[in-house]
Amino acid sequence: MFETLSDRLTSVFSSLRGKGRLSEEDINATAREIRLALLEADVALPVVREFIGHIKERARGEEVSKALNPAQQVIKIVNEELIQILGGETREIRFAKNPPTVIMLAGLQGSGKTTLAGKLARWLAGERNTPLLVAADLQRPNAVTQLQVVGERAGTPVFAPEPGNGVGDPVAVAKASIEHAERNNHNVVIIDTAGRLGIDAEMMQQAADIRDAVTPDEILFVVDAMIGQDAVNTAQAFLDGVGYDAVALTKLDGDARGGAALSIRHITGRPIMFASTGEKLEDFDLFHPDRMAGRILDMGDVLTLIEQAQRTFEESEVEKMASTLASDEDFTLDDFLQQMSMVRKLGPISNLLGMMPGMGQMRDQLSNVDEKDLDRIAAVIQSMTPSERANPKIINGSRRLRIANGSGTQVSDVNGLVTRFFEMQKMMRQMKNGGMPGMPGMPGM
Ligand code: GDP
Repeated sequence: MFETLSDRLTSVFSSLRGKGRLSEEDINATAREIRLALLEADVALPVVREFIGHIKERARGEEVSKALNPAQQVIKIVNEELIQILGGETREIRFAKNPPTVIMLAGLQGSGKTTLAGKLARWLAGERNTPLLVAADLQRPNAVTQLQVVGERAGTPVFAPEPGNGVGDPVAVAKASIEHAERNNHNVVIIDTAGRLGIDAEMMQQAADIRDAVTPDEILFVVDAMIGQDAVNTAQAFLDGVGYDAVALTKLDGDARGGAALSIRHITGRPIMFASTGEKLEDFDLFHPDRMAGRILDMGDVLTLIEQAQRTFEESEVEKMASTLASDEDFTLDDFLQQMSMVRKLGPISNLLGMMPGMGQMRDQLSNVDEKDLDRIAAVIQSMTPSERANPKIINGSRRLRIANGSGTQVSDVNGLVTRFFEMQKMMRQMKNGGMPGMPGMPGM
C-alpha cells in the first residue's frame, strides 16, 4: 500500500540531499513535487491544498531545527503533517461505563463489514473482552450465515434471529441482542448492519433506526480504501444519513495509492480507528497515524535518527559549530574534536548507519569504523596544547613524541591524525568556497 506516494516522496527528498540551505525556489519546487505526489495518490484536493500550505509555511519558518540539514528538515515536516492528516493521536474505543458497550458497523455492501466484525471481535477478545456478534443484516440471504462463519473463526458467539422466523426485523434483533448480552455477560456488542451496493435512502433509514433503538457507544463507518475518492463521497453520505464516530478502513492492502486513507479524516472530521490490511482475522489493530506516516515515508529509521539528533544536540552547540564552519577562520583540531563528539552522542557509529536506508556500499565501508579508533583520535587531540590544536603546523617531532606518550598511543598514530587533519582542513576550505555543508555532517543525507 501507498507504493506510489512512497516512491514519489522518496525522490523528492533525495533531490534535497547535499543542499546547504533551502532557498525560496527550493521550497516552491519541493512543494510542487509533493503536491503532484499527493494528487497522484488520489488525495482529495482540499486536503492537498492544506497540506502543501502547511509544508511551505513551516519550511520557510524559523521553527526548523538547526540540528537538521534541509533534507532532514523536510522529511521531518512532511512526516509530522502526514501524522496530522491521518488524525494525529490514535483513537481508542470508548467503552461504556455500564456494559455492554455497543459498537455498530455501517457501510456499503462489500465494504468488508462482516470481515471487520470478525476481526474486531477477535481483537477485543484478545484484550480480555467478551464480545457478542449481532447479525442485523437481514437483507442479503446469506449474510447471517456469513457472520456465523466469521464468528466461528473468531471464537465469538453470534446473535441472530432463529432460522425460519421469516425475514426478521433488524431493529428488533439489535434491541434483543443487548438484553441477550446483559444476561450472558458479554461486555461488548458488535452489530453488523445491512449495506447496499450504492448509497440508498432505505438503507440509511434502517441504519438510523437501529442507531435510535440501541444508542451505540461507537458507530463505525466501514469503507473500502480501494474505491479511492469515492470513499470520500460515501463517507459524506453516511455522515449525513446515519452519522458516525470513527472510520474503519478496509482493504488497505490492495490500495497502492492511499487517497482514501489520507483524505477521509480531513473531509469527515472523524478519526480512522481501524485499518484492515488483509482477509485474515489476525490482520488487525488500532490505527496508529504515526506508524502509518512512517510507512508511507518508507524512511526506515531515519525518522528515529532525526528525532534523536534533535533531542541530542543543543541548538547552541549546533549554531556554534555552524558559525565556525561558515567563518573565514580555519577549521581547527578543536572543531574536529567537537564535531566528532557531537556525532558520537547519537550512539555507536554502527547503529547510526543501520538507521540509514539505501546506503549500501557506504554502510559496509563505514561499518568497519572502530569505536576504539575514535577513542584514540580523541585521546591524541586531548593530549595537545591549545596552541597545537589551533595551529597543528607547529607540531614537530618532539611534540609528536610528547603527545603520543601523553595519550598512550604511538607517534605513527599522531602522524596519521595530523596528516588526515590537514587533508580535512583543505577540504573544508574548498567547501566554504562552495557553500556551507549540511550540519551535522551525516553521510548520505
Ligand atoms: P460486507 O458486505 O461489508 O459484509 O463485506 P465482507 O466482509 O463480506 O467483505 C467483502 C470482501 O472483501 C470479502 O471477500 C472479504 O474477504 C474481502 N475483504 C474484507 N476485508 C478485507 C481486507 O482488509 N483486505 C482484503 N484484501 N480483502 C478484504
